[in-house]
Amino acid sequence: MATLKPDRLKKAHKLLAEFSYDTRPVERGYANRTLLVNLSDNTVASKPVTQQMKDLFTGGRGFCLWLLWNAVNENTHWDDPENELVIAGGPIGGITTYPGSGKSTVVTVSPLTGSVVDSNAGGYFGPYLKFSGWDALEIQGIAERDVIIVIDGDEGRVTIEEAPLEDIDSHLIGPVLTEMYAPDEKDRRFVSVVSAGQGAEHSRYALLNFSWYDVRRKQVRVKQAGRGGTGRVFRHKRIKAVVVRYSGMSGTSNNPADMDLIRKAGRRMNKEIAENDPVQNNMRGVGTGHLPPIMDHFDLLPVHNYRYGAHPDAKNLDTPVWEELYTQGIPDGCWYGCTLSCAHGIDDFQLKTGPYKGQHVLVDGPEYETIAGEGSNIGVFDPLAITEMNFYCDTYGIDTISFANSVAFAMECYVEGIINQEVTGGLDLSWGNADAAVELLHQMARGEGFGLIVGQGVRYMKHYFARQYSADPDFLHDIGMEIKGMEISEYVSKESLAQQGGFGLASKGPQHDEAWLIFMDMVKGEIPTFEDKAEALHYFPLWRTWFSLHGLCKLPWNDVVPTNNKKTDEPNKVPEHVENYTWLYEGLSGKPTKPEDLIAQSERVYNFQRLFSLRLGYGTREHDYPPYRAMGPVTADEYTSRAERYDTQLKEDAGIDPAGMTVEEKLARLRHYRETQYEELVNTVYKRRGWDDNGIPTLEKVRELGIDLPDIVALIKQKTADGA
Ligand code: SF4
Repeated sequence: MATLKPDRLKKAHKLLAEFSYDTRPVERGYANRTLLVNLSDNTVASKPVTQQMKDLFTGGRGFCLWLLWNAVNENTHWDDPENELVIAGGPIGGITTYPGSGKSTVVTVSPLTGSVVDSNAGGYFGPYLKFSGWDALEIQGIAERDVIIVIDGDEGRVTIEEAPLEDIDSHLIGPVLTEMYAPDEKDRRFVSVVSAGQGAEHSRYALLNFSWYDVRRKQVRVKQAGRGGTGRVFRHKRIKAVVVRYSGMSGTSNNPADMDLIRKAGRRMNKEIAENDPVQNNMRGVGTGHLPPIMDHFDLLPVHNYRYGAHPDAKNLDTPVWEELYTQGIPDGCWYGCTLSCAHGIDDFQLKTGPYKGQHVLVDGPEYETIAGEGSNIGVFDPLAITEMNFYCDTYGIDTISFANSVAFAMECYVEGIINQEVTGGLDLSWGNADAAVELLHQMARGEGFGLIVGQGVRYMKHYFARQYSADPDFLHDIGMEIKGMEISEYVSKESLAQQGGFGLASKGPQHDEAWLIFMDMVKGEIPTFEDKAEALHYFPLWRTWFSLHGLCKLPWNDVVPTNNKKTDEPNKVPEHVENYTWLYEGLSGKPTKPEDLIAQSERVYNFQRLFSLRLGYGTREHDYPPYRAMGPVTADEYTSRAERYDTQLKEDAGIDPAGMTVEEKLARLRHYRETQYEELVNTVYKRRGWDDNGIPTLEKVRELGIDLPDIVALIKQKTADGA
């Protein structure tokens, strides 16, 4: 699709730096060195991985955080040259015998939150980076002109190349660079490209696309590290792409201590997927597209900026619609050996709008978050319109969750009369106007019009609308669905206190990959007390963090479960799968491993990330509160739509008789009750996590975890003495 052929584009490259290194095997999951690329002075260097790094931070997200911690200071902003993009797979990552082992994690100081953020993606980059000789890639500095970074693991060569002619959008640059570095079709699966599209030049919630070559379709596909604006940092550094090439991979490239133990885990899991997936979530048929009707049924599907949790037209987004649209019969794994294969795509989709109008393209997904966000949450119930937005979000490098919530917020402001067509440049932002939403996306990519404002995110718009249009800041705060500056994942959390905590207390911001407790809490009622909820908000974020330390996908953990799982002591933890993961780590490292050893790895990194946020001016109690829309009904309309539920709660839970009260009085009493409950939850969670009343890990806690490094101790002393 590119206008120029790869050889013509390559001729225009100018070599800015070249670095040669010795290629050597990975040992027990580690390459034992990391790669540092500085784009300001065009230098490339190798850094050793120390034993302390492995002991304290394990790998993956842990390594990324540690490397970034050493590169920045308390005053670093996202657009400073010393801010880095750090990308890593993880020690277990790259195996092919267990599903979901090819993830990469990206860490940076976020343009969206101002704090440290992590985000993960599938595709082949993380494993290929490690097998090429690097446990992590640190990119710092800012290039003068557009560049690509090429890591050739076959040749042992890293280059920084000025690349003036390549297109920016991911569906163009991914294939062209894959062809450039693997001219022979059979070699294309050995190349992975990280890129961000035009939108990343303008939006604070821009993402990064990680590619792999789909040998069956003969096409380059992408998975997204969506959250927190990593793509914006990427383009600010003037990176067009990072390419890795490695062709020597085998099933034992990690050189594990005990391959048989890893195979044992893989055999058990793969058999279970074959038998149980078709009768459980059917991830191989429809992926997370199975979720919209379930969420609608339980009043959890966000509708009209999370005002409601269900809608009669949600049937248009039901599972069979997606099953029909996704191409079937192709094993859609985003890494070798992923038998869960949920990375579905819509082939040959004809675009109706934008610069690629009329072209037939492959669309990855849409996945649940996109269906709910770009669908019901903005009042759109047309699967084809959602698919169009999904394609453009991906190729422009725009996070679908943040985009959806930002549009939903703008639409609510529009229907409430806070903004009008004079402000929107003539766009009618009524609920369900898919054409207007798509146009905002194109404007965002071009960096113009009202789309440019929407592309800065909900927090920015809250302040902007209050300042420019004298809107009530309290109302905007109540309906603006972001926490810590990041837009909330697509689940209505009003009826789940534990999920409110899951969003409010998440390290990087309200992303469901840290804690998803709605079903345990609201649907099954399994964690009724504050202590139960706090225990869940201790364990599950740590458990989910563990996947990102190792380059693993979370989905095979609990999107398919053993037939007898319900009969186990703790079915929510899926004990048999936890045992699989102990086998994987023991098989890799040769160290006897128990479940608590895995949690200990996570707890060190989790607390370190909280302290990293503290160092950057965040990471305290004041940053852990959701907007009220995530906790309860904001408007009279929301209350009356579920009046029976709320009246009953007032009477039975809060001990308040609502008889004779106006809706406004009932709203206020319910709000007071729910906010008090949230405070109590936060107190209980902090205590369980070993944090003080302000949400700061105590010295005792960091000593217990062994992360009492001099810088960390000094930070805690300074912040607690200051009463930060
Ligand atoms: S379960 Fe899905 S997202 Fe996870 S690795 Fe497999 S294909 Fe990729």
